[in-house]
Amino acid sequence: MNTLVDVNIIGAGPVGLFAGFYTGQRGLSVRLIDPLPEPGGQLIALYPEKYVYDVAGFPKVMAKELVHSLRQQTSQFHPEYVLEATAVSLKHQDGHFEVTTDTGQTYPSRAIIIATGIGAFTPRKLNAPGVAKFEGRGVAYSIKNLSHYRGKRVLIMGGGDSAADWFMMLKDVAASVTLIHRREAFRAHPATVELMKKAVAKGEGRILTPYELKELRGDSWVREAVIFQNQTKTEVPLVVDEVVSMLGYISRLGPIAEWGLALHNKQIRVGTDMQTSTPGIFACGDVAYYEGKVKLIATGFGEAAIAANYAAHYVNPELSVTPGHSSDLQRPL
Ligand SMILES: Cc1cc2nc3c(=O)[nH]c(=O)nc-3n(C[C@H](O)[C@H](O)[C@H](O)COP(=O)(O)OP(=O)(O)OC[C@H]3O[C@@H](n4cnc5c(N)ncnc54)[C@H](O)[C@@H]3O)c2cc1C
Repeated sequence: MNTLVDVNIIGAGPVGLFAGFYTGQRGLSVRLIDPLPEPGGQLIALYPEKYVYDVAGFPKVMAKELVHSLRQQTSQFHPEYVLEATAVSLKHQDGHFEVTTDTGQTYPSRAIIIATGIGAFTPRKLNAPGVAKFEGRGVAYSIKNLSHYRGKRVLIMGGGDSAADWFMMLKDVAASVTLIHRREAFRAHPATVELMKKAVAKGEGRILTPYELKELRGDSWVREAVIFQNQTKTEVPLVVDEVVSMLGYISRLGPIAEWGLALHNKQIRVGTDMQTSTPGIFACGDVAYYEGKVKLIATGFGEAAIAANYAAHYVNPELSVTPGHSSDLQRPL
């Protein structure tokens, strides 16, 4: 059995990291558990090199840099990180909680903050021939490193924000970029769609709608994509070096759905104190649900502060929920 800490935070995405900072600032010992090899959640796993424009205090910040700052802020309180471990089961015993991970380890804590975001996220995949074969050999579901695409012929599939945003970024580095989408209309932000159209008009890329992928061909690497117009069924072969499939993610609450907490679809219901239906278990960020919920990093940070302060009061009722002002503290960074 591992050491008993005040708070186990399940999920080390941006919101879990900020909850880690806040619980640390309240003087609690904290452990963060996450299946990914590094903290940062969606920002690191899905869009490390995209700019985020709506985090308070940053006119624009690259996702991976925001995570870097969050880690720095949280590290002041020396949290314990348990990475590459998924929380699978929970027991309430002898006045504390015990979280067991898929590595077989058990981690006790006095309170729990669940910040598992969209859960264990898996990309939505196409069944077309060749897609599975070329995964990791030209077929990717997210872009970790923009420079990898420099000088390449890239095919993007999808009509949402990720596909549109990456089209705009790849057009400046790739040799050519073609985006296909199965519908005429895009789900992406209309302003980005406008920018894409302008880029296409300037010859900076191609958008083909309503087109779908029929097949990928190649040898040890993907070399050709056969796409088709889904109304006329006309097929078009494209020479490609890279295929980026951005058809969205399937989110799963996973094992946490079995923990007996009140749920709302795939989210955990919380009160205004971010407490779930089980006293001592709090939730914040994308995984938490209350009426009027808006899933954003900015709102998740506010929820993390609320969850951490109520968790502090739960762990030690002598601690007030209201933390006072951090500007009154003197702390070298
Ligand atoms: C392409 C894209 C662009 C975006 N752009 C913006 C933007 O500009 N502005 C904005 O505000 N939001 C944006 N978002 C949304 C934003 O990323 C999320 O709101 C944010 O990541 C939520 O943070 P979180 O910490 O709650 O969850 P996540 O970032 O999902 O992190 C949750 C963490 O929990 C871990 N986890 C899951 N299950 C378990 C388990 N059982 N045990 C342990 N750990 C677990 C996961 O591995 C993950 O690391 C964007 C999202 C995407 C996909």
